[in-house]
Amino acid sequence: MSDLLLGPLRSLGSASGHDARAVNRRSVLHAIASGAAVTRADLARLTGLARPTISSLVDELSTDGLVIELGPGISAGGKRPTLLGIDLSARQVIAIDMSVRPFVGVLADLSGTEHAREVASQGGDPTEALAALVEELAVRASAPIAGVGVGAPGLVAADGTVIEAAHLGWSDHPLRALLEAETGLPVWVANDANAAALAEFGRLPTERDALVLVRIGDGIGAGLVLGARPHVGSSAAAGEFGHLVVQPDGLPCACGNTGCLETVASLPAIDRAIAARGDGEEAAEQAVADAAEHLGAVIAHLVAILDVGDVVLSVERDGYGELMAAQVAAVVRTRLLRRVAPNVAVRAAQDPGGLVLDGAHALVLAGALGMVRP
Ligand SMILES: [Zn+2]
Repeated sequence: MSDLLLGPLRSLGSASGHDARAVNRRSVLHAIASGAAVTRADLARLTGLARPTISSLVDELSTDGLVIELGPGISAGGKRPTLLGIDLSARQVIAIDMSVRPFVGVLADLSGTEHAREVASQGGDPTEALAALVEELAVRASAPIAGVGVGAPGLVAADGTVIEAAHLGWSDHPLRALLEAETGLPVWVANDANAAALAEFGRLPTERDALVLVRIGDGIGAGLVLGARPHVGSSAAAGEFGHLVVQPDGLPCACGNTGCLETVASLPAIDRAIAARGDGEEAAEQAVADAAEHLGAVIAHLVAILDVGDVVLSVERDGYGELMAAQVAAVVRTRLLRRVAPNVAVRAAQDPGGLVLDGAHALVLAGALGMVRP
């Protein structure tokens, strides 16, 4: 994910240099989209740009169809100002979830309203299947396409290279570059958990600036947003805590170690524990409680180290999310400082199944338009 991606979030100040106009344009779009600015005067105050610059940028964005005038606002003494808004139908976005098989793709407008949905063909080369999926959705677009967002499994570098995705057979695979060359569209690629984190971040109140999104499925991984920026880390592996050892004398893990978090808290591990307890509702409750104990301990460490106020659990099985979130919240609370614990909200994702697609959509909003939420 580009470091510039959420730049306008942190700094609404004016930029200098050859790309200043592009940066300022994104700042203006971001300010309008977030609701922080509704008039040209608001924009000037928020961005620090001169009024003529604001007028010219707003004119340019109006010509592009992105910014629309909504009518007169309330006067602060003189002439009534014109209210500005984003035309959420002016662009469309292609969002792809590669964390599921077959890959799923959606064509949506800027608000996220879905216009088309397709799945990729299976078998054959995954990059080719992905490009075909993009083409299939692109021909159905009824507005210019702002870009393609992809939530991909594995380690994904800032330039959209998939460093490693074992089950796809990818190693240092330049997915973004290949897909841009194949489709002619701008592409943003992020790890699926990081994309999901961005989607949840967009739903937070604007004053919250950090979030941990934990995905629990066959494996366990987290996506981080810190200081209102996606945090991928120096090896693109931030949040990959599924292989932290939590039970040194525990079960062997596929990674070669023993007692990793995934051996006690992933869905297959929970299923094993339920079966070992003889199935039934009580067995399930106890197995989830044991998993939550380990998960909560690791999350408490993360929260204590980073001082993150929002933790979202995305459990890839119906009926488990609320239960796990409640139990993990209880564990996290008991392990944190008493002054800190009440400030930490742990909750279940509302739509775990759609989260990576929402995140892929958010990648394009942020990357192409500087918008954090529609
Ligand atoms: Zn492991």
